[in-house]
Amino acid sequence: MNGHFAAVGKQPTATQYEHGIQVIDEDKAFNTSLNDYLIETQVAQAGFNYHLISVFGSQSTGKSTLLNHLFGTQFSVMSETERRQTTKGIWLSKNKKEGTNSSSVKMAENILVMDVEGTDGRERGEDQDFERKSALFALATSEVLIVNVWEHQVGLYQGANMGLLKTVFEVNLQLFLKDRQSQTRSLLFFVIRDHVGNTPLENLRNTLIQDLTKIWSSISKPQGLDNSKIEDYFDFAFAALPHKILQPEKFVSEVEKLGSRFTAGHRSTQGQEYEGGIFLPEYHRRIPADGLSVYAEGVWDQIVNNKDLDLPTQQELLAQFRCDEISREVLVGFDTVIAPLEEQHADATRSGKLIVLPDLGGTGSSAREKCVKAFETQASRYHKGVYTMKRGELESKIDTRLKALYQAQLVAAHKTGVAAFSDAVTNAVKSGQKAGGSYEFAEIVDKQKTKYLESFKKEAQGLFIPDVPWSNFKPQYRLFEKELDEVSAKLRKEEMRRLAIRVERWVKSRLGDTIGLEFNKLGSGRGGTGAPENGEKPPSEKDLWDRVWNSFISIVKDAESRFTDRAKSFEASAEEVEVGLWRLRRKSWVALREQIDDEVMESNILMKLRENFEDKFRYDEEGVPRIWRPTDDIEGIYTKARESTLSLVPLLSRFRLSATLAPPDLPAFIGHQPPSAEPEDEEDLLPIGGIDEEEGKSLEEETTILSESKRQDLVVRFKKMADGVYVEAKRSAIGGITQ
Ligand code: GDP
Ligand code: MG
Repeated sequence: MNGHFAAVGKQPTATQYEHGIQVIDEDKAFNTSLNDYLIETQVAQAGFNYHLISVFGSQSTGKSTLLNHLFGTQFSVMSETERRQTTKGIWLSKNKKEGTNSSSVKMAENILVMDVEGTDGRERGEDQDFERKSALFALATSEVLIVNVWEHQVGLYQGANMGLLKTVFEVNLQLFLKDRQSQTRSLLFFVIRDHVGNTPLENLRNTLIQDLTKIWSSISKPQGLDNSKIEDYFDFAFAALPHKILQPEKFVSEVEKLGSRFTAGHRSTQGQEYEGGIFLPEYHRRIPADGLSVYAEGVWDQIVNNKDLDLPTQQELLAQFRCDEISREVLVGFDTVIAPLEEQHADATRSGKLIVLPDLGGTGSSAREKCVKAFETQASRYHKGVYTMKRGELESKIDTRLKALYQAQLVAAHKTGVAAFSDAVTNAVKSGQKAGGSYEFAEIVDKQKTKYLESFKKEAQGLFIPDVPWSNFKPQYRLFEKELDEVSAKLRKEEMRRLAIRVERWVKSRLGDTIGLEFNKLGSGRGGTGAPENGEKPPSEKDLWDRVWNSFISIVKDAESRFTDRAKSFEASAEEVEVGLWRLRRKSWVALREQIDDEVMESNILMKLRENFEDKFRYDEEGVPRIWRPTDDIEGIYTKARESTLSLVPLLSRFRLSATLAPPDLPAFIGHQPPSAEPEDEEDLLPIGGIDEEEGKSLEEETTILSESKRQDLVVRFKKMADGVYVEAKRSAIGGITQ
């Protein structure tokens, strides 16, 4: 079908179409340039606003002459001297008198006239075949058939014209067999030539109608149409023209009058006659002008090949062909707009640098609307069923591409949005930290989330096309929101880590001060240099671990509430807080252990023991320094002081509370690992004896501050040192006497 319809276009030129266009040549070939001609004469874009007329009649009855006068056409006319056939096949020309008519009534727009070869075949002999075929062709396409007859032929029932009319009626019935539901009628417009005037037109008209009725009754009708009447299919109109050569002026003026009847008209209420011009809407074949050429070609093809002419099928085929053609045409415009955008997204995907095209929704829907509208304008004139289907196909073609494009756009908007959100939150936190750490994480997250959600929403809504369900991108929006929440959770976790680090540092520094102080107190054998001013009992060395533990507990409590307050402020969940506190307690304990280890480092602890010892040895009960005299019991005091200090070593060696004489209840203090803790929460945690069973270290070991060997070593070194002090004291006592 495509090949058949394919237009073989010659380049049209103005002079080429001077005489119109030969639609069917003498070899019965169809001229595919017809569409070019329609384009050239600007009929092609007229939709249904055109009219097609054919003229019938015997050879050399002045048909071409009539048309040329009536429509300003330039169909070939037999010269007065030669007398042989001039019109070959079927010619078509556009009315050239359109708009130039001097009479008050303007002719209808876009009248196309077909000059059909004279059909009583003086030159074609008995070739009734062509006559039949051209009649069928004219009937299938034309609204009005002008039948040209000499006045003196009227009433001659056997006249050549009557044979022709019989043919017209027969082929008409043939058409109606296939196209019964069609309301199409045709107008037979009898133009009586060389009307002398003796017989009034009214009488001629009656005679003609009688003849037509006779012919109608004589033709054999197909089954089901036996009782049909001629009026069921045809309307009739009549006109008479004076002799062109004898009354040339009158001829011209009458032709002009006749021309004024070629305007739109409507049936009068009486039903028989019509008002206005001769073109009634029901005559129109409803073939859009831009499909006329293809349709005519299809029709002619069937006629020439003696196939049953099936106009409804022809119209469907035409609709398919034209709708496809129009679809391709309108897609070109769509492509021009959309292809570069698709290219940009494809490039972006390839290079991994995603882009969000500005106003893609606006561009997309306007391209879509333009395309569909353009299709609708042209294609909706064709067969409704076919048009609806093809429109659906076009929309789905457009939508497949738009959908892919929009999805790429939203993927880009999603990914860039998530990244930008994450950066924005991180940067706001950073600048908050720089500005002294006073920032509200939750507020930052809320603000940025609102901002980025809003911009994604705007993008997604911008892509929405009313009544097009796939363009509702709510699910994508929800997905985006979900991912922002996930990113927020991740960032909040990081923020929790930062908070934890800050709090841990604070714990460490507090422990450094407090625990250092407790251990420094060891340095004074009597609770420092003298009794405390408030008169309280000086702290006993025996309470060291109670005080350490209590200070520790209170520092951690403090830290816990700091942590909790802050974490709550950025909307951390109860689980997250629980994990954070659990980590904090563990880390705090480890920090305490480190702090204690630091305090009992050999050099540190030895110094403290020495101070403790010297305090006891060199000062009396009142805290007054002793001046050794030879009479003093230096040895006794020395032994007492040494033993007293040495008794500290086992005390220092193990972290024991005085109330229970047992290690502090670390497991109860730290608590169970919260179920919501994740592996990464445990990553930087050091094992704690008695807590982390699988490490094989007991609570006993965890709370052992000095190992047995270290203890012995410490005792030995301390004794040496004490001995030194003793010897020095001895010497100074003796020295004091000799002095
Ligand atoms: P066609 O074959 O029917 O197209 O006839 P043409 O238009 O070629 O004219 C055939 C001949 O009839 C020409 O020589 C014309 O001059 C002549 N002719 C044209 N119009 C009239 C007319 O109204 N009356 C008469 N008697 N001759 C006419
Ligand atoms: Mg002619």
